[in-house]
Amino acid sequence: MLQIHNTLTRQKQEFIPMVPGKVGMYVCGVTVYDYCHLGHARTYTSVDVIIRYLRWRGYEVNHVRNITDIDDKIIKRASENNEEYRVVTERFTRAMHEDFSALGLTAPEFEPRATDYIPQMIGLIEKIIANQHAYVGANGDVYFDVRSFQSYGCLSHHDIEQLESGARVEISEVKRDPLDFVLWKLAKPGEPSWDSPWGKGRPGWHIECSAMSMDLLGKHFDIHAGGRDLIFPHHENEIAQSEAASKHPFVNLWMHTGFLQMEKEKMSKSLGNFVTIRDVLREHEPEVLRFFLISSHYRSPLIYTTDALYQSRQSLERFYTALRHLSDAPHPENTRFENQFMAAMDDDFNTPVALSALFDLAHEIQRLRNKDMRAAAAHGALLKRLGGVLGILQTAPETFFQTGGETDPAKIEALIAQRQQARREKNWAEADRIRDELASMFVVIEDSPQGTTWKFLK
Ligand code: AMP
Ligand code: ZN
Repeated sequence: MLQIHNTLTRQKQEFIPMVPGKVGMYVCGVTVYDYCHLGHARTYTSVDVIIRYLRWRGYEVNHVRNITDIDDKIIKRASENNEEYRVVTERFTRAMHEDFSALGLTAPEFEPRATDYIPQMIGLIEKIIANQHAYVGANGDVYFDVRSFQSYGCLSHHDIEQLESGARVEISEVKRDPLDFVLWKLAKPGEPSWDSPWGKGRPGWHIECSAMSMDLLGKHFDIHAGGRDLIFPHHENEIAQSEAASKHPFVNLWMHTGFLQMEKEKMSKSLGNFVTIRDVLREHEPEVLRFFLISSHYRSPLIYTTDALYQSRQSLERFYTALRHLSDAPHPENTRFENQFMAAMDDDFNTPVALSALFDLAHEIQRLRNKDMRAAAAHGALLKRLGGVLGILQTAPETFFQTGGETDPAKIEALIAQRQQARREKNWAEADRIRDELASMFVVIEDSPQGTTWKFLK
């Protein structure tokens, strides 16, 4: 039985999709005004593993991840750069796609851009006003009337009075209540704007996700996910708006990922303490980064250090060492390794426990290797198959060991060829000299009846 933690109930609960075998899932996407950082990698890799596992479990997943391509931060960045806002969002959308495909994230079925959904947002705001949950403020902006929505606070588990006392005391003559949030903002001169019944302006951030998710997945769907910073106010507001418009429950299951942190602080663009995905991928293989990201549970905080990346590389080396020199074979069914792996993933996608089942499997392969190569190969096929569910272990072991070192593999291959030539000529001194030269480059060579292979020593 697959159990998933629901932020709404703060409990793990059995996952029962609305339509048997099918899952509608909306994931809040990136605000595209800069390069993606490791915090993004953390959230979207978690989502990627969740989706891969749901599919492996036989569910058909309709995955929607939006692009926020209009917002205050985008407008600010465009004006700092003296660029059109669309030039900024196009550039960083392209960069995001490059980074996400380098990370091996499965592409969503739909990737709506907020600016393509303005009519749907306007339609939603009209409904919310008609249902008496929104009003036009004294400045002409449209606000959601938080006090009119009975269950406001259901996701963040705060009652409205608590939220009120926590809210910045805003002296505002335009809103009825400090918690009221904007649905439609009138444009200042020079800002991007769209026509609306309330004048030229642009949507508030929260309404974007309500409009795009309901348009693509219907007014009621299975899973909505994002980082935990989105619980309040973004997702709380999404529930209020969507249900105020449709008068229908919005989402069954809310999933939130823990923060990736630098020291004690959340990594974020606005705090300026971020490391971009592309910076890390210049020095580390994507698989190493992915391994680091899935080595803790998706809801736990994760602290980024370069040392943790080196440890991830070492863990992967243990797996790839187990996979070396195995022929193709059908994987065994119903092993304790697969059962442990599934039990861990069924328990709210517990990747660290699932990885420990894979470590046991790698150990078993090494044990079998000495006595039954066919059984070792079959278990190797299982390791590869289960690794694939987590998006790891799909590289050929030789390639894995030959990447991520500091020396050009072509130079190493040339030295190995020279050493083989020396050995053929029984020039042992030269062969040893080349072996030492390779060792100085942290390359170890292994001679076997199949030939000579090499790897970087870490
Ligand atoms: P943004 O581009 O800031 O709108 O964020 C896009 C997604 O990344 C949201 O789901 C955020 O919650 C998530 N996110 C941003 N920073 C972090 C972080 N440091 N750790 C984990 N997730 C993050
Ligand atoms: Zn959102």
